[in-house]
Amino acid sequence: MANKVPELYGSLVFNDKIMRDKLPKDVYKALKKTIDKNTHLELDVANAVAIAMKEWAVENGVTHFTHWFQPLTGFTAEKHDSFISPTEDGQIIMEFSGKELIKGEPDASSFPSGGLRATFEARGYTAWDPTSPAFIKDGTLYIPTAFCSYSGEALDKKTPLLRSMEALSLSATKVLNLLGEKDVTSVSTTVGPEQEYFLIDKEDYKKRKDLIFTGRTLLGAMPPKGQEMEDHYFGALRPRVAAYMHDLDEELWKLGIPAKTKHNEVAPAQHELAPVFDTTNVAVDHNQLTMEMMKKIADNHGFVCLLHEKPFDGINGSGKHNNWSMSTNTGVNLLDPGKTPAENTKFLVFLTAVIKAVDEYADLMRLSVASAGNDHRLGANEAPPAIISIFLGDELNAVLESIEQDKFFTADKAKAMDIGATVLPHFYKDTTDRNRTSPFAFTGNKFEFRSLGSSASVAGPNIVLNTAVAEALDAFYDELKDVAPENLQSAVHELVKKTIIDHKRVIFNGNGYSDEWVAEAEARGLYNLKSTPDALPVFIADKNVELFTKHNVYTKTEVTSRYEILLENYSKTIHIESLTMQDMVNHEFLPALMKYIDEIADSVLKRKQVSEKLPVTAQTKLLETLSDGYEKISELVIKLKADTLTAEETADSLDMAKFYQGTVIADMEALRCVADEMEALLPSDILPYPTYADMLFYV
Ligand code: ADP
Ligand code: MG
Repeated sequence: MANKVPELYGSLVFNDKIMRDKLPKDVYKALKKTIDKNTHLELDVANAVAIAMKEWAVENGVTHFTHWFQPLTGFTAEKHDSFISPTEDGQIIMEFSGKELIKGEPDASSFPSGGLRATFEARGYTAWDPTSPAFIKDGTLYIPTAFCSYSGEALDKKTPLLRSMEALSLSATKVLNLLGEKDVTSVSTTVGPEQEYFLIDKEDYKKRKDLIFTGRTLLGAMPPKGQEMEDHYFGALRPRVAAYMHDLDEELWKLGIPAKTKHNEVAPAQHELAPVFDTTNVAVDHNQLTMEMMKKIADNHGFVCLLHEKPFDGINGSGKHNNWSMSTNTGVNLLDPGKTPAENTKFLVFLTAVIKAVDEYADLMRLSVASAGNDHRLGANEAPPAIISIFLGDELNAVLESIEQDKFFTADKAKAMDIGATVLPHFYKDTTDRNRTSPFAFTGNKFEFRSLGSSASVAGPNIVLNTAVAEALDAFYDELKDVAPENLQSAVHELVKKTIIDHKRVIFNGNGYSDEWVAEAEARGLYNLKSTPDALPVFIADKNVELFTKHNVYTKTEVTSRYEILLENYSKTIHIESLTMQDMVNHEFLPALMKYIDEIADSVLKRKQVSEKLPVTAQTKLLETLSDGYEKISELVIKLKADTLTAEETADSLDMAKFYQGTVIADMEALRCVADEMEALLPSDILPYPTYADMLFYV
């Protein structure tokens, strides 16, 4: 097997090598120019590419093609058309044109548009994104595309992502050129998303309505053992799981997804997969595909893959670590401290730009990871808090402090202002001293944004990050552009120093899980947007709309529509959870509880018939507890139903989301609390669905 991996890798991808082999030289060159320089693609080039793509696809047994896009549902969408084209003599030929490659016109009316629909009358179009390679899956040629309305509004996640990458590239290039890097013509952002997931048995899954309808368990008493022994983390893979991971790796490799690391996670039945990083756009597409393949391959192995942020209460949920950096077309990672003074200067400029960006747009960063599912994790001592801060580590922190206090070059005071004079200490990629509690941590040559939820597309957080950093770099450029060359060094130093002073409040190297940090963050004036309804309104705040419109990432209408969709999504999610919980409690839990109550009552009566002297105190007490629980649960489920109705009838969408968050979720928690207490008293065979112990420890 091992010697076949290089051959296997990317075998289903229309990648650069295939393009070079299959395309006429001039066509290949023209396409490369479009990909690298974002230039317009002529139709004759597209036609030639389409022919080569089709030939390659047909050689690989493909009969259909689809434009593959990422509507605002957070999932991917596809509509398959076959290559066949009837001929006059009743035969068919396999055809695929440049026009079909470049543009599609799916009916868009059923995708969420957040009010944009009115302006584009149900039709949308998809446009080929040549920067993300086409691939083959299940006998179909997949063409990554952007999805827009007829009037040009983005209806997807890819379009604004590409725009944000463009914005960052423009701003970063300007700054680099100013710093003397004349051969830099573009900068791309890179992302490596680490993906967490749970695997449970398919048979168990099928019996739990909560998992089927909501992706998480709404009821379930803790088993005697949870994750407290930490024996699962990096533990030996069980054979069934190892077989699954093996297949998953292979399928991902075929699709050119560089799956690299796999291991067991902290929670029982929880695992992680990390790929080698790639350009953001490609990494986002790959992450969507990875999630899809995780689910599909799980099915082949009798598993269900749970990607929800919190499938099980009381044990860790799943997130996604978004490793992020910027690199130039000349191959330089701008967050690598480097070894020479010039490299150090560049590093400090880009580092402080990121610090400024995160401080000024911490609200947007928080918003970009907000979802009903992720609300269960952030701030719950298993994932970073809802407060966005930056971890730099002791070494780098000391460097910034010395710059701030002009103590950086202690040897020679005259040189103290000259930032390029001394080489920064070398940063080791320290894997032991990792601050796991920080939402945004510098890890040697990249930042790791750790607040992301496991199920969401990583497009959103990267759109925010790219745009905010572009804005910070623009401000730097404005500051430096008129400085005479001989004064540039000291101007850069002053800028770096000033930025540190202005934005150091967002730097925090301590324990992000502690209560002291919450108080301190408040004193520092940092945002603490605890829940999704708290976070969402920042999307449409003036300063943020200005940011997005200035950099052509979103129009104002596009921002508003996304805000509406997110609000709606949140309320719908909690609504479905509430209905599912009511269903399970009324149709499954309460009947099971009553059955047991009856059994005990019968048993007490029978025993009394045998002899009045037989002790029944314990049974009677249990009977009391269970009956009491039955009463309480019945009342609580009625309250949940009533409050859910009230929520549904709330007119304003933000008020509605807040009511779901403040009242309906509280009702669900109260109900669950009693139900779980009762569950712990039930015999193991009485519930019609599997318990936590059944699901978490037998895979
Ligand atoms: P660690 O395991 O110590 O967190 P790794 O080097 O294994 O660090 O990286 C974790 C993830 O970060 C991987 O997906 C990796 O590809 C990604 N990564 C590494 N360098 C970069 C970079 N320059 N930009 C984006 N992601 C990166
Ligand atoms: Mg990591």
